Amino acid sequence: MEKCNGRDNNRLPLYKVVPLIVPFSVGLAVSDFCNFRCVYCKHSTILEKSQNDRMLSWDEFVNMANEVESLCIRGGQKVKVVTICGTGEPLTHKMLPQMIRYIKEHNWAERIELTTNGSLLTHDLSDQLVEAGLTRLIVSVQGINTKTYRDVCGYDIDYPRFINELEYFYTHKKKCFVYIKTVDIALKKGEQGKFYDMFSPFADMVNIESVIDVFDDVDYSKITVTDNKSRYGYTYDERKCCHDIFMRLHIETDGSVGVCSCKNPALHIGNINKQRLIDIWNGDLHRKYMKLHLMGRKNEIPRCASCDAFAKTGHPLDNLDQHADEILQRLV
Ligand code: SF4
Repeated sequence: MEKCNGRDNNRLPLYKVVPLIVPFSVGLAVSDFCNFRCVYCKHSTILEKSQNDRMLSWDEFVNMANEVESLCIRGGQKVKVVTICGTGEPLTHKMLPQMIRYIKEHNWAERIELTTNGSLLTHDLSDQLVEAGLTRLIVSVQGINTKTYRDVCGYDIDYPRFINELEYFYTHKKKCFVYIKTVDIALKKGEQGKFYDMFSPFADMVNIESVIDVFDDVDYSKITVTDNKSRYGYTYDERKCCHDIFMRLHIETDGSVGVCSCKNPALHIGNINKQRLIDIWNGDLHRKYMKLHLMGRKNEIPRCASCDAFAKTGHPLDNLDQHADEILQRLV
């Protein structure tokens, strides 16, 4: 069992390979619904079921997946990782195993990840996810007992059942990698070691991440968040240029295409219900935003102006600042 921060360290320095023909990472949101109300998430600000919460139809999902596939075919490359995630809980979507199978069969992603709170896992669903071709399960744990779950995410979890389901998944996971993480605010002083002891038996990797200010709607001053702290434990290094915009796409349930996953709402560059994804990724707007970042003028993009989330999430090898001029030459 590895005890580290869950990032891929087997990577090239990003500056050597950008601009990318095909993004390294694609996120697909399949559901806006969440059964948790975590204090650091925008769902904590939603008291009633929102009228705007969407659940992707099968046809919408197929369109989303096919758009990514077209981009990969045209670029002659697979994406390195597709993550089923978003601000909703993916396990609330009844067709999730079929979606994973569809991606697997179309073979445009090297890795298929699912980020989940794990509370809706059952033996049967675990079997279906593994059989469908899931290659990485990422479970976000919100504390080491029922009371903390209630405090952090407003959810009455049946803790023994939860542990039993994680254990079942791990025992039946075949080649799927299991990564279990929690956030610093979900652990009281002295509980860190217990967290590792509890979850290490049924995880390939465990980690404690730091909460950073992701959601505009959340008042982080009420939550213990240390400024200038990296989510993954790296030394915080101030950056002028966001790496996410060069390597990531995230498609939301309404078809909006964003270029970052560490800020919500994301910086949007189009919508697959109006344009082809390939035209969005290679489009003028995306190119303009990348150039502004490289020129140190991200403040001209309202969404990016006050954002430093990328500096709190970026891998050291993704820092582009020292090579901005060189990359700009490739973009003109
Ligand atoms: S600077 Fe912030 S808002 Fe802009 S693309 Fe990067 S992460 Fe997103």
